[in-house]
Amino acid sequence: MPRVSPDPLTRLYCWRVDRRPGSRAWGRNSRVIRLALTCLACCCLWASSGCAPLELPARLPSQTVFSQSNLLIHSDFALLPGHRLLDQLPARKSELATALGLELAAEPIAVYLFADEATFARYARQNLPGFAGRRALFVKTDTRLMVLAHWQDQLGEDLRHELTHAYLHATLPWLPLWLDEGLAEYFELAPQAKSLHARHVYHLAQEFKAGRWQPGLERLENFQDPSQFQETQYAESWLWVDFLLSTTPERLQLFQNYAAELRNSSSPQPELSTRMGSSRAAWELAILDHLKELATELQGSREEPASADRLGLPAGHSAAEPSNVAGR
Ligand SMILES: [Zn+2]
Repeated sequence: MPRVSPDPLTRLYCWRVDRRPGSRAWGRNSRVIRLALTCLACCCLWASSGCAPLELPARLPSQTVFSQSNLLIHSDFALLPGHRLLDQLPARKSELATALGLELAAEPIAVYLFADEATFARYARQNLPGFAGRRALFVKTDTRLMVLAHWQDQLGEDLRHELTHAYLHATLPWLPLWLDEGLAEYFELAPQAKSLHARHVYHLAQEFKAGRWQPGLERLENFQDPSQFQETQYAESWLWVDFLLSTTPERLQLFQNYAAELRNSSSPQPELSTRMGSSRAAWELAILDHLKELATELQGSREEPASADRLGLPAGHSAAEPSNVAGR
């Protein structure tokens, strides 16, 4: 990922910004966290001489520390090794490696789990200005990969999402924003969801029906600023990943070849859309059929009110494409 905003005072870097609504990640060198913490404490003390309330500095969780696979888990509450929430994580890492066709780096990843939202929010407010209100954060520095989150009902999804970013950034020196987020969205799902992201299917179906969205990988590849990545871009990124991984051996091979190129280069590669060659236009039509199939699958499972009929897609979009679609 490109470096952003070198701080002239601290020579630290903001590495990663994930602005998905309601959550997510960003990165900074841990020294800036400590510096900001100190500055904020000073500011709070200064402000306390007036009317502003004093807010004590928040610390990273450290009550419980244990390792699980390459994860070093820290929490500020009692958390036992082998908790089912954590047990699922190594399996998702293996599945990511299989999808990419790569062996993932074993770099340790520090996971900080706060007991409650208030403590987490206070830490974020003090140390990560601009990212308060997120449910979880991914931080990449020159020397560390960290995931921060707090205990709540969607913690499993948040950990799977942010850890996917961490696994990817530990292994690939550079990857495009759409692929980074598309894979994180794909692997954030619980195993029982079988990679069927109901919220994204529903959203894209509605956007297509309203005439506000058409699939286009080249357009998606042009996004480099995470702040411009909105729900539709997250959803389409997920759809492309799902389409490439789960439909035909030809597409899976193209995807894995591209991942192998990314691993061996530290500079932006030609985009995946250029690798599709003459297949690109046909694939951008075929992905609509794939979306329609997913909507039908959801309709059958009654997970979301999306249906193939509501997509409004004419039949036979992918007549030029082979029909050897692999099952889920
Ligand atoms: Zn993300």
